[in-house]
Amino acid sequence: MKKIAVYPGSFDPITNGHVDIIKRGLRMFDELIILIAYNRNKNTLFSVDERSEMIREVIKDCKNVRVDCSDGLLVEFVKDSGANVILRGLRALSDFEYEFQLALINRRLNREIETVFLMTGYKWFYTSSTIIKEAASIGGSVKGLVPEIVNLKLMEKFNNKKAKI
Ligand code: ADP
Repeated sequence: MKKIAVYPGSFDPITNGHVDIIKRGLRMFDELIILIAYNRNKNTLFSVDERSEMIREVIKDCKNVRVDCSDGLLVEFVKDSGANVILRGLRALSDFEYEFQLALINRRLNREIETVFLMTGYKWFYTSSTIIKEAASIGGSVKGLVPEIVNLKLMEKFNNKKAKI
C-alpha cells in the first residue's frame, strides 16, 4: 500500500520551517499533499491562491508532492485523498498541547488515520509564520527564514523598501 501523508496548515506564508518538514516528510512517504486548511472567517495576510502559488514555486523541483486546499473536516480530506497519515511539525513545548489535542480529536474522528510528528530542524525552532509577518511588517529582513519567493511577496505586501537584504 502506498504511504500517502497530508501536511495541513495555514501556510500564511510558507516558511523554511515548513519546507524542512516537507523535505523530510518526502523521505518517509511515497506521496505528500500539502493542504492549505482555510477558514473563511479567519483573516490571513495572503489569499489561498497566493499561498498555493508560493508553495507551488517552492516545490516545483520536488517529485511526489502537491498542494491542495480545503475548508472542510481534515480527516474527511485525508480519507478522500486515499491518505492515512497526517504530518505535523513540532517546535517548542508550546506547540505540544495544541498538537496533542488536535491529534486526539482527529483520532477520535477516524481511527484509521495516524498523526505523525517531526521535530523541527534546530535552525527553525523560532520560525513561525506569525513572527515572520510581524518582522516583515515593520521593515525587518526575513531573508533566510523563508523561501526567496516569499521574501519578495512579503516585501511587495508591505511595500517594504527598507528591508535590509
Ligand atoms: P497552524 O495553522 O496550525 O498555525 P502552520 O500553518 O503555521 O500551522 O503550520 C503547519 C504545521 O507546520 C504545524 O504542524 C506547525 O507546527 C508546523 N510548523 C510551523 N512552523 C514550523 C517550524 N519552524 N518547524 C517545524 N514545524 C513547523
